[in-house]
Amino acid sequence: MQSQAELQSLMNTLAGQQLQQNILDKRSTVTGSMDITTSTNYNLLTYHGILWQPASIIWNKATPNTCRIFLWLAFRDRLNTNANRVHKKWAIDPHCSSCPTIETANHIILHCKLADEVWKKLNLHMQAMSSANIQAFVELILDNMPEQQKLGWPACFAACAHGLWKARNQRVFKHTEPHSATIIQQIKENLRLWVHRLKPSLRIHINTWADKLS
Ligand SMILES: [Zn+2]
Repeated sequence: MQSQAELQSLMNTLAGQQLQQNILDKRSTVTGSMDITTSTNYNLLTYHGILWQPASIIWNKATPNTCRIFLWLAFRDRLNTNANRVHKKWAIDPHCSSCPTIETANHIILHCKLADEVWKKLNLHMQAMSSANIQAFVELILDNMPEQQKLGWPACFAACAHGLWKARNQRVFKHTEPHSATIIQQIKENLRLWVHRLKPSLRIHINTWADKLS
């Protein structure tokens, strides 16, 4: 009903508009930008101009596109975890293949055995354990980190979360148990690679996190 009323109100407004050739007709959006761009329109269409909290974590400059898409799915709980596969009636067992608990994205990235090892290495183990979901975890770290470390955190979280998901897939599909040291090494190597996506002056923020994984 509300959307019908909004549509009617818009139609009434449009019906009252008359185009005049000699009068400059300049449109701008309500998102604060002076110009109409693809991204301002996208924001209006998707979230009515209200920023979705994890957006700034996902669309980080250092993070490659494949990993951004993975993060978007993870934050939206759309990954094909066992819990979601059961929900879609593709499977009957929603449990994690290495612990007796329901396998969700939050479990794989925060609470599973391998995640434990990764977050311990970064000294964020307690925060991961106490967070109910990945968004709460990411925000908890952002709220409590010194300014300098905050800047590299989105890329570090992306590399760790993606590394943990790939390790989970290796366990499920290739039936091989990934070693935590190997996973941590791969995450570190990815971060060292991703820094080249940034200006040299910004690379230190990510290298600081990569050093912790050494
Ligand atoms: Zn598990």
